[in-house]
Amino acid sequence: MQSQHFIDGQWTAADRWTDSLDPANGELIGRFADGGEAEAEAAVAAAARAFNDPQWAQNPRLRQQLLLEWAAGLTARQEQLAQLLTRENGKALAQSRGEIGGAISEILYYAGLARHNPGHMLEVAPGEFSSMLREPAGVAGLIIPWNAPAVLLVRALAPAIAAGCTVVIKPAPQTALFNAAMLEPLFALPGLPAGAVNLFTESGHAGAAHLVASPRVDVLSFTGSTATGQRIMRDCAATMKKLSLELGGKSCCLVFEDADIAAIAPKLAAAATIISGQQCTAARRVLVHASRFAEMKTALSAALGRIRLGNGLDPATNMGPLIDWQSRDNVERRIGEALDSCDEVLLAGGRPQGELGNGAFLAPSLIAHRDSSAFFCQEEIFGPLLVLESFEDEAEAVARANHTEFGLSASVWTGQGARAWRVARALRNGTVWLNDHNKLFAEAETGGYRKSGLGRLHGVDALLDFSELKHIYQNVGTLG
Ligand code: NAD
Repeated sequence: MQSQHFIDGQWTAADRWTDSLDPANGELIGRFADGGEAEAEAAVAAAARAFNDPQWAQNPRLRQQLLLEWAAGLTARQEQLAQLLTRENGKALAQSRGEIGGAISEILYYAGLARHNPGHMLEVAPGEFSSMLREPAGVAGLIIPWNAPAVLLVRALAPAIAAGCTVVIKPAPQTALFNAAMLEPLFALPGLPAGAVNLFTESGHAGAAHLVASPRVDVLSFTGSTATGQRIMRDCAATMKKLSLELGGKSCCLVFEDADIAAIAPKLAAAATIISGQQCTAARRVLVHASRFAEMKTALSAALGRIRLGNGLDPATNMGPLIDWQSRDNVERRIGEALDSCDEVLLAGGRPQGELGNGAFLAPSLIAHRDSSAFFCQEEIFGPLLVLESFEDEAEAVARANHTEFGLSASVWTGQGARAWRVARALRNGTVWLNDHNKLFAEAETGGYRKSGLGRLHGVDALLDFSELKHIYQNVGTLG
């Protein structure tokens, strides 16, 4: 397999190529074009030119039609894409299938919204009209991570197209082949104007940095780590472009004394090990009422111990490898330091032996700890580590959960409806699930409080990240 850049309506050959490896076994999957600043600049120039054509920016029906046709093209090759996603990212095939299905559904959702991005109008004084018109913001640069490269591409690209922006996409190198394959049916559409949607891939960051710095990029939408997001925010100050930042998290699950521990422990184990713990909203800290703490220790250790590691293509696999060996080594080191310094080790994961030995695998670990300022309660460790803490009452549960610089997501587990809502209201997070975790929908906005980001993707509000609001005033007078 080989993927190229797509710039100004053309697949463009590269001078340099980088290999893409299967993290389950190190096998070569293919190679992707390894570009940089020159490709980023060519893509931005093409997108800036395409934005000037009213047949794109002012033509919602065309943009809707292209989104619908792209969704149809993806539907026709859904299984092939799911297999490639599992090979390049490592996640279990059922998760890949779910992600591709969700991405297609999200394209259809924004195809509808392409024709419904209304402003508003008011008569501010007799005969004086103020119209507030939603306009596309211009050229959007999208920087996408590798952990959910179908949904995270679509949740930025589809609202950008729906709003009328032209786009330059920079995927993560770890899933460059997959992202090119996802975009291929869109690029093949005869109705897509040259330059409206562009793609370049790179193993480094020079091209991404160019998107951040370029005065011709009007919106920068970044999904990735808080550290990179902060750097991008600093670097955007010079051009003051619109920023959409979807960053890291450290999700807490608050389990109250009335909860059914045996029933929810497997759900928490699944929430912690989704994409091998490499999901921004994955369960990281489980806060349990003191009266049920001992029971939760046993139930959660057992549930995590039953998670079956393996190649994502094997239907029996619950959890695949981490994204690559470098990431595996970093996560393994941080988990090792956590195991060394925590109050109690309940399950020590580590590398599996035998036939999985060549892959970037790491089994889940579970620890218990009292002090929520410990580094492993505060830092986002992007892998399969879960921390158990206990609390005495609602106020302590909320104080512990809010003791973090992140604010992405949390879950509350109790049969008492009023308590669930009271606690959800007090948690400083963009998303709170009641008696569930990791439920994400095209229709429901997600985003972070505090260092988890700026703006919202998914839902109607994602259009705001890619739109400007223009006030047009006219005094038409009154009759007589
Ligand atoms: P990352 O910040 O290393 O990389 C994300 C993207 O930015 C990639 O495309 C990468 O190539 C690019 N990038 C890296 N360094 C860059 C730089 N200096 N300048 C410009 N671009 C750069 O993050 P990651 O490890 O790939 O992804 C995991 C992180 O993403 C986690 O922190 C996770 O919580 C976060 N995430 C957040 C959400 C959300 O919705 N909030 C969703 C998924 C992932």
